[in-house]
Amino acid sequence: MLELRRQRTIAGDRGPAVGQDLDVRLAEIDHRLDGEEHAGLQRHALAGPADMDDVRLVVEHAAEAVAAEVAHHAHALRLHETLDGMADVAGREHMHTGKAVTSLHRKRDGTWNVQLSDGSTIDGDAVIVATESWAAEPLVRPHDEAIAEALASIPASSSATSSIAFNENEVGFDLNAFGVLCPLIEGRALMAATYSSTKWPGRAPAGKVLLRGFVGGPHNQEVLKRSDKELVRIVIDEFRDILGLNPFAEPLFSRVFRWHLGMPQYTLGHLDRVALIEDRCANIPGLAIAGGSYRGVGVPNCIESGERAVSKILGEWGIDLAEDHTEEKRYF
Ligand SMILES: Cc1cc2nc3c(=O)[nH]c(=O)nc-3n(C[C@H](O)[C@H](O)[C@H](O)COP(=O)(O)OP(=O)(O)OC[C@H]3O[C@@H](n4cnc5c(N)ncnc54)[C@H](O)[C@@H]3O)c2cc1C
Repeated sequence: MLELRRQRTIAGDRGPAVGQDLDVRLAEIDHRLDGEEHAGLQRHALAGPADMDDVRLVVEHAAEAVAAEVAHHAHALRLHETLDGMADVAGREHMHTGKAVTSLHRKRDGTWNVQLSDGSTIDGDAVIVATESWAAEPLVRPHDEAIAEALASIPASSSATSSIAFNENEVGFDLNAFGVLCPLIEGRALMAATYSSTKWPGRAPAGKVLLRGFVGGPHNQEVLKRSDKELVRIVIDEFRDILGLNPFAEPLFSRVFRWHLGMPQYTLGHLDRVALIEDRCANIPGLAIAGGSYRGVGVPNCIESGERAVSKILGEWGIDLAEDHTEEKRYF
């Protein structure tokens, strides 16, 4: 009973510090990499057959610049600004968005050819497959059946969030919390709620409140058949029942976001499957697999998974990143 109560009242864990600590602005990052030396290195490394020392320098300089900016701006969270800053550093002209990878071919010389859904192709020295595991499976199958089978056996569930705004003076409950988690045993449609405007600065103007409700998950995929309007209704009803939302509080607006098969499920045997994937992948030069489907779903886990994938590829090229030795590895 106490445990259940503890789970139900995670809302009591107060303070906006976590969100603010993550707050990162990287808008100035390309200034740090604007110098002729860096620009030259980037061009050289990205354009043609690379001199490995140049690649190492580019990677290390970029990593240092990103780390410096993160440390400098650790007071204001904007996840998309972090990603935008990283895209600027990497060079947007090298990126292809809005197209799916349809297949991966390994050429005789060990390099790769990536086929895209618009019919175009990209050649590369290495491939890091950072899709969901179910999307990685058909891409990897021609190269290793056993990895593909392991990828196919990692289930994923879909979910949806409803973000709903209210007037602060109408909500009628204590907003001094990050949100609530609803344990399965409660049998609720709502999995969790985030008090978005309390958790992160700038999410709502003064006097307004932004709340976010999560529905779906592995035990309630049925609810996702409902329309957006119905999902908002369900979430508001749950807010009333669970949080004590005033029945007369009128939503100012709402937005529903659906995440199709976006949450991998770590079922019994997951670590064995991941070990198999990693072990076999170690024997395929130029191929790495990363993402939230393997060793943790949180954004920091995904970042670390990406780092490991990069280290695998660079290691094959004889590039030993200094940061792999100096930085204490993080496990979440
Ligand atoms: C509703 C929800 C809320 C969450 N909240 C939090 C939170 O508060 N904190 C936290 O730390 N984590 C949270 N998570 C978990 C975290 O967001 C995810 O685990 C993480 O974003 C997964 O990152 P990823 O890079 O592995 O995969 P994704 O972000 O899913 O990226 C995979 C990408 O691959 C693309 N793709 C798929 N197939 C192909 C193809 N053939 N070709 C090209 N591209 C392809 C997809 O379109 C997608 O963009 C949440 C997840 C969900 C669903």
